[in-house]
Amino acid sequence: MVESGASNWNIRFKHLYVFVMFCLLTSSSVGQQPFVEYSERDSAYLSRLHTRVRGPLAVEQLRPRGVPRWQLIARRKLTELLGLDVIARDNRGYQSQVRLQDAIADDGFSRTLGKIETEAGIEIPFWLLIPNGEDHPPRPLAVCAQGHGGNSWNNYAGIYQNAAEREKALARNATPGLEAVRRGYITIVPAVRGLATVASIADPKGRHGNQLCRAQLVHCLLAGRTAIGERVWDCQKVLDWALTGLPNVDTKRVLFTGNSGGGVLTVYMAALDERITVAVPSCSFTSYTDLSGFVFHCDCCLVPRVQSELGDFSDIGALVVPRYLLAVHGKQDGLHHYPAVEAAMTRVARVYGLLNQEDKFAHRWGQEGHKFYPDIMWPFIENAFAELHK
Ligand SMILES: [Zn+2]
Repeated sequence: MVESGASNWNIRFKHLYVFVMFCLLTSSSVGQQPFVEYSERDSAYLSRLHTRVRGPLAVEQLRPRGVPRWQLIARRKLTELLGLDVIARDNRGYQSQVRLQDAIADDGFSRTLGKIETEAGIEIPFWLLIPNGEDHPPRPLAVCAQGHGGNSWNNYAGIYQNAAEREKALARNATPGLEAVRRGYITIVPAVRGLATVASIADPKGRHGNQLCRAQLVHCLLAGRTAIGERVWDCQKVLDWALTGLPNVDTKRVLFTGNSGGGVLTVYMAALDERITVAVPSCSFTSYTDLSGFVFHCDCCLVPRVQSELGDFSDIGALVVPRYLLAVHGKQDGLHHYPAVEAAMTRVARVYGLLNQEDKFAHRWGQEGHKFYPDIMWPFIENAFAELHK
């Protein structure tokens, strides 16, 4: 009986052990679940293609003393890969022009519709929001870039076509321009090429899947440009104008932010343009591909050869060091994958750590989906602006 009892205990213990191990294995594997499943053949190929590539300008081997040289070389390469040299060549001798309509008084600020011609015949509309109070000391500048969504640049500035659009925008906190001007910042909300309908080229016969951003991409690639490159070009022209032509702007306090496609643009803008002193990419700043080879961003964000000639998107975001950078993600964002984001942010944090600038980079998770998280972003921005104002 004793033997039998001991044996029962052994069996029970084994069952318990197997059960515990099963629980441990399944719970630990939840975080490691692949974002997507490829066939064995595809998986082997994509792994070879993407994850074994180590871009020559990736940050793995970077040492503190090498950071300035790395930034110089990587920015030059990024400028080339984005086709910015080609856009500059196409516009040699051309001066961008800005036209402003009459200002309209709003609640505590003025609202002006402007247009900037960034290339001959290419007019990019934007909202200029200026807080009331002419005698105020110089104010920070905020540029809020929309993501995919034909009219969202208007929403960002608090303009809606109808009640349903307003409700949708408010639910996603997609009003960063309005929030910025209410916080006392001179604010610009540009339409983004290929993302805003008004700043897109047509897709006749639906050749590019009736997606304006894809149409932009294909035309750009054929001509040696990229869609991102055109967006960066436009926003740099906006900055040129705002930082020299607008009164009362504190050029040391310049925020660039955007969600989704606007967040991708934020990373590229801040990586290249040191006039931006605070960058907040929302629901966008992750690696180009995960371990399975899945490509996270929309096709229109494609930069040819970037993995093989430069590095990962996290390496590009790390170019922002030592300026302020906050990456925000949503835990329930179906477009991104927690482990991939965490790995990418670890790479960025390491570069900030190399220069002892850890406090200028932060990565935060919101509890919801693909949207802005004002409660997370504004305290970081306010703190950064306070530090820059000292
Ligand atoms: Zn797109």
